[in-house]
Amino acid sequence: SGVVTAVAGAEDRAFEAALRPRTLTELIGQDRVREQLSLVLDAAIARGSTPDHVLLSGPPGLGKTTLAMIIAHQVAAPLRITSGPAIQHAGDLAAILSGIGEGDVLFIDEIHRMSRPAEELLYMAMEDFRVDVVVGKGPGATAIPLEIPPFTVVGATTRAGLLPGPLRDRFGFTAQLDFYDAADLHRIVRRSADLLALDLSDAAGHEIASRSRGTPRIANRLLRRVRDFAEVRTGGVLDEAAARAALDLYEVDAIGLDRLDRAVLTALCSSFGGGPVGLSTLAVAVGEERETVEEVAEPFLVRLGFLARTPRGRVATPAAWRHLGMAVPAGLDQ
Ligand code: ATP
Repeated sequence: SGVVTAVAGAEDRAFEAALRPRTLTELIGQDRVREQLSLVLDAAIARGSTPDHVLLSGPPGLGKTTLAMIIAHQVAAPLRITSGPAIQHAGDLAAILSGIGEGDVLFIDEIHRMSRPAEELLYMAMEDFRVDVVVGKGPGATAIPLEIPPFTVVGATTRAGLLPGPLRDRFGFTAQLDFYDAADLHRIVRRSADLLALDLSDAAGHEIASRSRGTPRIANRLLRRVRDFAEVRTGGVLDEAAARAALDLYEVDAIGLDRLDRAVLTALCSSFGGGPVGLSTLAVAVGEERETVEEVAEPFLVRLGFLARTPRGRVATPAAWRHLGMAVPAGLDQ
């Protein structure tokens, strides 16, 4: 993975652990989600009950894992972590559920990637706090009831619409995370620099923030690359010139588009005349899975106003042509 992909690598994981906000108060941005979630949690705490199940949706790197950890921390409950791809059989989930303690928070990342039978087991567990575990096959199969103490599921998904309705309906609260604006990203970079005891100038922080693709994970990663650059090349001076030079070196463009974003735009304009083109065709053209193009690249391109999803397919806007340095086709630019 490159410098600006929003998906986490091993270096990110180690570094992120140190920089993760631990409470809702420490969390920067996402004001509406913060307020709504704090109400859900405070009310549950006041009633002495476990909070409703929470679904977090949004593109990678915007803080879903962070929020799950914060939820567990705020209600002082143990957090158990698993992911959809790790739960391929209903039995995998039954094993997890049988270890759940009262009030535990169960974080299921990429919850839309669980198998269908596991999904069904999960929504029964979420609703009734009991499931029937089927042991054996054929006529000899028996259903063994498993009681589960009240617990809270925190599910994370790149898009809530990917979940089947019955499962989605079991979540009492759904938070849609949005890309961060430059001011919030700047505060995140500032906070990280302080935690790392880096003497980062304001202009350098601004430069990093504006190239971070609306994504805290990328902001923290770019900060790390700028730190490397400063240590080796500028005797530790983290000013605007150092930030620019470092980010140029790593080919992060001025508005933070990553390799996939640029590939999608380039294919759309160069190979398909700006569209409309179907998602599958576009995905093949950039050598990625449909889901990756749709869930990772497109949300940010739509947000920038570079790409529109129309009933006939994906279309490049005049701004996209201009960003690529290409002439806007006649008829499009008015
Ligand atoms: P993925 O879906 O890829 O797991 P995610 O949405 O769960 O990503 P996190 O792992 O929670 O993302 O966040 C990535 C990094 O960004 C973490 O290091 C975290 O410290 C930082 N971060 C995320 N949101 C915020 C925020 N609101 N304020 C400060 N730092 C943040």
